[in-house]
Amino acid sequence: MRAPRVFMVLLALALLAWATPARAGARLECPAEVGQGLPFFVRVVADEAPGAVDLEFGSVRARVEPREGGGGWEALTLLGTNLEAAPGPVRLVARLAGPGGPLVLEREVRVVDRSFPEQRLSVAREMVHLTPEARARHEAERAEVRRVLADVSRPRAWGGEFVRPVPGAVSSAFGLRRFFNGEPRAPHRGVDLRGPEGQPVLAMAAGTVVLAAQHYFAGGSVYVDHGQGLVSMYFHLSELLVRPGDALAAGDVLGRVGSTGRVTGPHLHFGLAVYGELVDPMPLVTGSLRPE
Ligand SMILES: [Zn+2]
Repeated sequence: MRAPRVFMVLLALALLAWATPARAGARLECPAEVGQGLPFFVRVVADEAPGAVDLEFGSVRARVEPREGGGGWEALTLLGTNLEAAPGPVRLVARLAGPGGPLVLEREVRVVDRSFPEQRLSVAREMVHLTPEARARHEAERAEVRRVLADVSRPRAWGGEFVRPVPGAVSSAFGLRRFFNGEPRAPHRGVDLRGPEGQPVLAMAAGTVVLAAQHYFAGGSVYVDHGQGLVSMYFHLSELLVRPGDALAAGDVLGRVGSTGRVTGPHLHFGLAVYGELVDPMPLVTGSLRPE
């Protein structure tokens, strides 16, 4: 009598699965844990076109346009945690507009503490104690950068693969607690990659150049907007080979490695913002973090 009972249970489960409405198939995928200052993929998968998906993660608000694929619809994006975010759970909420009425999906992402070592650097005095003129210039540049990072209006131009901008090894990791000439300054919100002066610097993904300028600390700088809140940045360049408005493919040369701005020698400072949050770009360009 055991076998028929098992069969009946399986049949009941199969009928239950079949009877579940398609909309209940919508799901929210994200990692359970993310270290401080790291990017992560978020995906909403739905059987039917869900309309725009609005994501809420801490103070971040992101609107993602779903695309058709894999026999259904998916809204894929990158989000990130702040380098100084308090460890603990953060609510991730996805609001779907339709088609059968609004639907809210929720998950919890636990921010995990990472210990960031100290780094002590010696640089020219005027790079630590700014003259009033240099300070005013730096403040204006910061405002311009904030404006660029706040614009999340472009559609997603990136795919699943990202290009390492130069082949050199990491000389200064993301998150280092920095002291310049013995004085504490902001932590390192990017990575420094080794590279000789003049080495071509490649765009990590397709996108549009939104800023190409000479900045006080960053030197020759290029910012590329890859859409959906993802902006990559390349600092200390000796030469800028692109202009704002230029459309780039992944791997296009945008400039050359240099030693402009606040540096101790030629290298590439490579940064990445996700909806305004500066995160470690290395997991993406080394392939250790993928959408799947
Ligand atoms: Zn750097």
